[in-house]
Amino acid sequence: SEMCIRDRNYCEGNRFMSVKFDILTLFPEMIEGIVSSSILKRAIEKQIIEINIINFRNYSTHKHLTVDDYAYGGGAGMLISVEPIHLAMKDIADFENAYKILTSPSGVLLNQKKVETLRKYNHFIIICGHYEGIDARILEYVDEEISIGDYVLTGGEIPACALVDAISRLIPGVISDESTSCLLYTSPSPRDRSLS
Ligand code: SAM
Repeated sequence: SEMCIRDRNYCEGNRFMSVKFDILTLFPEMIEGIVSSSILKRAIEKQIIEINIINFRNYSTHKHLTVDDYAYGGGAGMLISVEPIHLAMKDIADFENAYKILTSPSGVLLNQKKVETLRKYNHFIIICGHYEGIDARILEYVDEEISIGDYVLTGGEIPACALVDAISRLIPGVISDESTSCLLYTSPSPRDRSLS
């Protein structure tokens, strides 16, 4: 009898579809380690996913590459300007058709059901805020704001990694090697035990 129940992904065999993630951030190093390790690393090597980490500071139009500004009317601290993010976005091939997500503590709460609905896209642009957040005009350029939990983080880098990780593991081939959900026993086997 078949003791191992294979993951659904395994049954889909070699019908791999590559999914692309473009992550816009001011702190690429916060993301690099996570996406270049373990299962995501292997998924990139197998060309099942592609991850580009783009530092939008490089798109600043200011002499000193600043990307933040004082909030209009004062009050809050520094806000990230929309211009460098918009310029970085426009530099991404086929950006018009990408699903654009703004990480935000006031966005739609991420859960597994939400991850499954996101799985249908094959190109994501994920924007990481930092400091006091991003000028609200950014909302004109995104499809959805997503929060990874009811708490406030210092930046959108951890949420971006959570999104990439949770979506990626639903893509056929990403975890198929690890996903054989056999019932595992320490030795001796339960059959031997029942005989004794
Ligand atoms: N008052 C700001 C706001 O409501 O956007 C807080 C900004 S927070 C200190 C800085 C950045 O971290 C945000 O722009 C967002 O990108 C990210 N962030 C913080 N908490 C988050 C959460 N729970 N889910 C997703 N992104 C979050």
